[in-house]
Amino acid sequence: MTGIAGDAALSAARAASLRRLHTLVRGINGDLDLERTLDAVARGIVEGLGFEVAVVNLVMPEGHLEVVAVAGSDEARDALMGGRGSREEWDAWLTECTPVGQVLVDYRRQEDDGTAVPTWIPDRPVLEDEDAWHPLDALIAPLTTRSGLVGTISVDLPRDGRRPGPEQLELLEMYAAQASVAIENAQLHTALVARDAERERTLGRLTALVHEAPVAILELDLQGRVRLWNPAAEEMFGWTADEVIGQPNPSVAPDEYEERLGALVRGQVVHRAPARRRRKDGSIVEVEMSSAVLRQPDGTPFGYIGSMIDVTERTLLEQELRTAAYTDPLTGLANRGALRQRLESADEVPAALLLLDMDGFKGVNDTLGHAAGDQVLQQVAARLRRSCRPGDLVVRLGGDEFVVLVDGGEDRVEPLARRLLSVLSEPFSLSEREVTLGCSIGISEPRRTGSATALRDADIAMYAAKLRGKGCFQLFEPPMRVAVLQRAELAEDLRTAVAQGQLALRYHPVIDVPSRRVVGVEALLRWNHPTRGELSPMLFVPLAEESGLINEIGDWVLREACTQLRRWHADLPEHRRLTVSVNLSAVQLKVPDLVEKVAEVLADTGLPPRRLVLELTESVLVDDDGDAVGVLERLRNLGVRLAMDDFGAGFSSLRYLKRLPFDFVKLDRGLLEGVHRDPAALALADAVLGLLSRLGLRTVAEGIETRGQLAVVEGLGCRYGQGFLFGTPMLPQDVPALLTGDGGGVVVPAPREQLENGVERV
Ligand code: C2E
Ligand code: MG
Ligand code: MG
Repeated sequence: MTGIAGDAALSAARAASLRRLHTLVRGINGDLDLERTLDAVARGIVEGLGFEVAVVNLVMPEGHLEVVAVAGSDEARDALMGGRGSREEWDAWLTECTPVGQVLVDYRRQEDDGTAVPTWIPDRPVLEDEDAWHPLDALIAPLTTRSGLVGTISVDLPRDGRRPGPEQLELLEMYAAQASVAIENAQLHTALVARDAERERTLGRLTALVHEAPVAILELDLQGRVRLWNPAAEEMFGWTADEVIGQPNPSVAPDEYEERLGALVRGQVVHRAPARRRRKDGSIVEVEMSSAVLRQPDGTPFGYIGSMIDVTERTLLEQELRTAAYTDPLTGLANRGALRQRLESADEVPAALLLLDMDGFKGVNDTLGHAAGDQVLQQVAARLRRSCRPGDLVVRLGGDEFVVLVDGGEDRVEPLARRLLSVLSEPFSLSEREVTLGCSIGISEPRRTGSATALRDADIAMYAAKLRGKGCFQLFEPPMRVAVLQRAELAEDLRTAVAQGQLALRYHPVIDVPSRRVVGVEALLRWNHPTRGELSPMLFVPLAEESGLINEIGDWVLREACTQLRRWHADLPEHRRLTVSVNLSAVQLKVPDLVEKVAEVLADTGLPPRRLVLELTESVLVDDDGDAVGVLERLRNLGVRLAMDDFGAGFSSLRYLKRLPFDFVKLDRGLLEGVHRDPAALALADAVLGLLSRLGLRTVAEGIETRGQLAVVEGLGCRYGQGFLFGTPMLPQDVPALLTGDGGGVVVPAPREQLENGVERV
């Protein structure tokens, strides 16, 4: 067929082919589902392009190619469907093929061309004909899109048994081009559908999460109007979603909101920030909230999302715990922790720190019990609170120690200290009785001497106040720090004092008041310090007690005093009834073999036990975790006599005296101080002496300095007396003269003769 007729025939055939192609292409574009599109692509070739078999391979997301559609032959489908070939294998094979336009042919007729891509060789006779289709022939149309190769279409077994001519190849090429577009569309569609499904699922998950979340979740628009309000929010705040959606968030004040949202937009991160919100019923809910700005993909904010946890209960608990951590449970006052915090954090340095220590408190605990002690402490706390201003911090440090941090000006400090001394010297009423205590106050002024050491400085000052005789206050001065250092040095020196013979005894006469005769002497300890001179026991006995050295010292005192008295007895037989009084520390009473030691000294010196008087203060029963009463009884069973020293200075429990095996009670100097001029003091002394005599106890009046006092003491019927009126503590060698002098042991106060310290002397 040549010429115009031939051309016309050809173009008619071509037009028919194109129409068929058009129909085919409509068919493959008819569906957006990928699988159906692939099938349609394969079927289209078999139905309309003149091949018996068509196979579609698709580039998979993993990169390899996979047979995804086979049309025309069940046998081919069974052999090929799902078969895979790597991209490299495919590329290698396709480059071996001969391109004809956009399609590739492989007419090499090689049985084994070494390729590993899925192949199927139809079982057909081989025709010798040059252009006959050979079972090993291959014809491939690559499927390409803008993004490159997406797959291939392989065709086999042309229906006419011939290798396809150029028009057929061109048709195949055009079909492949359309198929690529159809497949790409279907792939896009599938991906979109998958993404939509995933979105739906995500949205479903989020919705369920928001709905079921135990935390309140809310979303707001930029104007602060509620867009989302989950059930937990309904429960937490009391408003339902219906009531609040589209409205400004009712749980928060509008101005606070604006501020907060503005800060969020500016980039502030809010993560678990504490906040207070209002409930529908008006109550407050403490929340911890996290929020974030919601933004469009281009960054423009379109709202806020926030979540809140109700921490009201936790906050309350924390507050309680904090209060408990900073409160003294007994008195409800602030405690040491609170004081430390205030000292560290106060904006303004307090004018003063007053450290108060109750004098004689231990006795209350000890003799009346802890319940009574607690009552006293509570009353102390109440009085302190009443006497202070709201700005002052009143603290119980522990035990019977209190602190007042004074607010305001320095001019308040001393008047306040005086007022506190006065209110605390008032009697405390307990269920069955009244007790009177006092207190000592040490004061530091942090503005002058520093905040960091305020408590320690006040403590040093308080120690000084106690040394000055209790019931007073003392301002801290920096040189006192040195005094404390010196105290430490002194304690160190004391260790060698005993060994180096620096200790000595003075003897202070005890007078039988009716006869004015010396009936005994009290041994009083002195320390001849190599550089500081003679030191008072008031200064170093407490140090010796702290270090335990008091036992060694006490042993020495006892042996020395007994030895000395035994010598006087031997030298002055007419004074064989003379007694010696030895002071014992409470610490010594706790030494297990005290009784044996005393017995040993008596045996060694040969001193009759009756001539030894052991003096103890009430403090022997303080912190008595041992058996003080038992020890006292065993001492008394040795024949030794016991005296209670300093009665009236401490707690002065009369009930307690009855229980203890004392022979003498020594009335503290303070008790007799004003007796000769103050009727009230006289009445008190009278009452005490009356009680003591009714208890069968003999009394010794301490600190008689004037004849006036002596007269009163005598009038009150006190049997014995001691005091500077009869002489100061003297050297042992001066004692015989006192006993055998003009009066022969009878001490008669001489006419008034003023001493420089204002006391009269015999
Ligand atoms: P104390 O046992 O009550 O002794 C009486 C103290 O009062 C003595 O002070 C004495 O010198 C002083 N004194 C006596 N009469 C008067 C007076 O009329 N006016 C004044 N203002 N004071 C007077 P000293 O010797 O300084 O002893 C103080 C305390 O030291 C003693 O009080 C006693 O508790 C303790 N002490 C003394 N020696 C020893 C000892 O060997 N062992 C122990 N554990 N303590 C001792
Ligand atoms: Mg004494
Ligand atoms: Mg005394």
